[in-house]
Amino acid sequence: MPIKPSRKTPMPMLDPVERRRLFQEVNQGYDAPRARFEATRCLECQSPACEQGCPVLVPIRKMSRLIAEGQFEDALRAVKEVNSLPAVCGRVCPQESQCEKHCHLGKRFRPVGIGFLERFLADWEIENGRIREELPEPRPEKVAIVGSGPSGLTCAGDLVRLGYRVKVFEALHEAGGVLRYGIPEFRLPNRVLDFEIEGLKRLGVEIECNVVVGRTVTLDELLGEYAAVFLGTGAGLPSFLKIPGENLTGVYSSNEFLTRVNLMRGYRFPEYDTPVRAGRRTVVVGAGNVAMDSVRSALRLGADEAVIVYRRTIKEMTARVEEYEHAVEEGVEFNWLTTPIRVYGDERGWVKGIELERMKLGEPDASGRARPVPTGETFTMECDTFVVAIGTSPNPLIAAYTPELKTQSWGGLIVNEETGETSKERVYAAGDIVTGSATVIEAAGGGKKVAAAIHKRISGE
Ligand code: FAD
Ligand code: SF4
Repeated sequence: MPIKPSRKTPMPMLDPVERRRLFQEVNQGYDAPRARFEATRCLECQSPACEQGCPVLVPIRKMSRLIAEGQFEDALRAVKEVNSLPAVCGRVCPQESQCEKHCHLGKRFRPVGIGFLERFLADWEIENGRIREELPEPRPEKVAIVGSGPSGLTCAGDLVRLGYRVKVFEALHEAGGVLRYGIPEFRLPNRVLDFEIEGLKRLGVEIECNVVVGRTVTLDELLGEYAAVFLGTGAGLPSFLKIPGENLTGVYSSNEFLTRVNLMRGYRFPEYDTPVRAGRRTVVVGAGNVAMDSVRSALRLGADEAVIVYRRTIKEMTARVEEYEHAVEEGVEFNWLTTPIRVYGDERGWVKGIELERMKLGEPDASGRARPVPTGETFTMECDTFVVAIGTSPNPLIAAYTPELKTQSWGGLIVNEETGETSKERVYAAGDIVTGSATVIEAAGGGKKVAAAIHKRISGE
């Protein structure tokens, strides 16, 4: 493929016709010549606006210069000083609305492929062996982290690099949070996540799975043993449409559907005895990353047709551009301005189809996006699987068992904006449990902020 300096160096990827039935990773990553070429597109700006667009402040200008010079290890070291999860962020961050959105080169040409470069470095480490990291003298204080998603892992990584003894408690049987149970193998392979988590363990982070804080152990018990507790428990409680028929067999929340596919390894049936049925036609309601992951997983599970229905238009869609484009290439059908109003089933209680209503756009709502307004025009669509991907809210468990934790009306924990401390002393929180469903890098940024605040409180530095 010819490479033009005005364009981002193309990412090699699997052919859409082939990959729509495979859980193999779609993006194949840059090789060294491609990465070095892409890095030379960076203008090394005096004021690198890209860095201000990154919630964890990756030193993008320095990273690009070192990659262009072929000094991959130094470039990776610079990234890892601030980001514990470069292989993850390089794959799933919405760069188009963060660092790359601010890139000065983007004013005239395509911005530097910052995410692709970060991913290249992380993959280089996986292929060439781990780089050594120097740790400071160990400190006596222990910190407990609840939840092993990106906020918890980042907070753990920063604290262990400051010398603390850190233990992560995770409710599920594997660590990683949404990175493990939500984002599918074809976007973020388990082996990549395993490498990142193993790296943190080697630095000294201890991880204990199958511990539901609030039930197995209480927050007060943790506070008795640890100098501080960080809550990064995410927003894993699915929202439903509250329409008739939603309890039929074959109707899933996106959380359940993706957890069965990813965490329970449904995508490796029959090797794993946990089949997930996609049927002939799967319909997914929603147009965020979660909806795209669900609909693309359905294709890979064997659905002949995989359909998105969304009550607004492509302009209001919240999915990453790349995810949408990949879904289109793979043959996903999009029905804009439509919303399900009823699910109907057969005599055995299996979903058989949905009734939908056409919408039109009205005035902007509180989110600033045009409000969908019903038109009264309805139609039906047959399907064997129906997945609801319209959002999630914070897991209420810890707050329910700990009345001193103050929450917003929608369930998010209330924290001090500067430190992330909750209404309970020595208990901090960040990530989706505070912001509601957001992004990996925002959760990581929140985890970093809290790590700094905990360090300041304990050490006075
Ligand atoms: P989570 O990742 O939700 O992790 C929370 C962890 O806490 C979980 O492992 C949970 O089991 C554990 N936990 C909960 N309660 C307890 C308890 N009581 N005791 C112990 N452990 C507990 N963002 C992007 O930037 N790009 C994307 O492409 C993208 N795609 C996504 C696709 C899907 C399918 C989903 C669901 C989300 C996606 N997101 C994406 C959003 C992103 O993954 C989240 O914003 C991010 O993972 C939030 O991180 P977190 O650390 O706050 O929580
Ligand atoms: Fe390079 Fe763009 Fe950042 Fe400038 S803004 S330093 S061109 S990545």
